[in-house]
Amino acid sequence: MIVNMSNSATPEQINHVIERIKECGYQAHVIQGAERTIIGAVGNGERRSELEALRAAPGVAEVIQIAHPFKLVSRQLREVGTVVDVRGHKIGNGDVVVIAGPCSVESEDQLLETAHAVKTAGANMLRGGAYKPRTSPYDFQGLGVEALRFLDRARKETGLPIVTEVMSESDVEVVAEYADMLQVGARNMQNFSLLRKLATAPKPILLKRGPSATVKEWLLAAEYLLAGGNGNVVLCERGIKTFETATRNTLDLAAVALVKELSHLPVLADPSHGTGLRSLVTPMSKAAVAAGADGLIIEVHPCPERALSDGPQSLDLPGFATLMRELQKEPLRDVKAA
Ligand code: PEP
Ligand code: MN
Repeated sequence: MIVNMSNSATPEQINHVIERIKECGYQAHVIQGAERTIIGAVGNGERRSELEALRAAPGVAEVIQIAHPFKLVSRQLREVGTVVDVRGHKIGNGDVVVIAGPCSVESEDQLLETAHAVKTAGANMLRGGAYKPRTSPYDFQGLGVEALRFLDRARKETGLPIVTEVMSESDVEVVAEYADMLQVGARNMQNFSLLRKLATAPKPILLKRGPSATVKEWLLAAEYLLAGGNGNVVLCERGIKTFETATRNTLDLAAVALVKELSHLPVLADPSHGTGLRSLVTPMSKAAVAAGADGLIIEVHPCPERALSDGPQSLDLPGFATLMRELQKEPLRDVKAA
């Protein structure tokens, strides 16, 4: 339920509504807009009719039902898009943010070379996997804490904030100590105990869409983070499983545009995992920007043929510089009227 206060509501009237919501057994989430205060009543209590009755309370303009099962992530609750701050870099303020780096951190040299190159080409943040979710247990699993130390060094040298995946609850503390934004990988999107733990982490979260998750399931996963107290959430569309086998996944750009409508959270696109093919990364990056994505996450490796993971979808260093130049051109083509 959303309680829209009138723009002349007094602080006492607002507090009264908050108290009544709590008395009825719901959480009250207050959103202070430029002109008016909006209060979201969230929970599964049985006193909805009492919430509806708040229509009659002084200072209340209207009480409306939230149409979706997700509440706190809904744009109905917060009309203005959320801007997430990652060590001073903003995601969701209208600029296209580019996060780039290797799929896996393989060595200090590999990471530093990539970090300096992506920074020179104009990337805003550095990615690199320290803990890798691999389909096979025999594949490279990541360097763990050693990789986190390399990422720290890369941040010191380049000034780029670092984004890295946290796979398990037991790693949250150490990853949060080093990383500026914690990535929840596609395979973990519905790991609810991990989400609950991350809801109390002191860092922003990059929540990837599960390969088989519907938009509703994805937004409900984000809801766990907001309901648990972490409002700094960025969504990332990284491709879903479909019948198509020509690409690794199907990058669902309609979901990017849809989620921008349904939610106030920023949304990134990952054309590297979304296609699995290096040659498609640049066209799908442009398409994602045209569809309204707030940014991109791109895999880059100094020598993709030697990469320990995801080489075929990784851009090399000159390839990434070209992508950045392409993105800086006008992304939409002219449509000539007849
Ligand atoms: C990754 O970012 O390297 C990764 C493993 O991504 P996803 O979870 O989307 O597969
Ligand atoms: Mn990868």
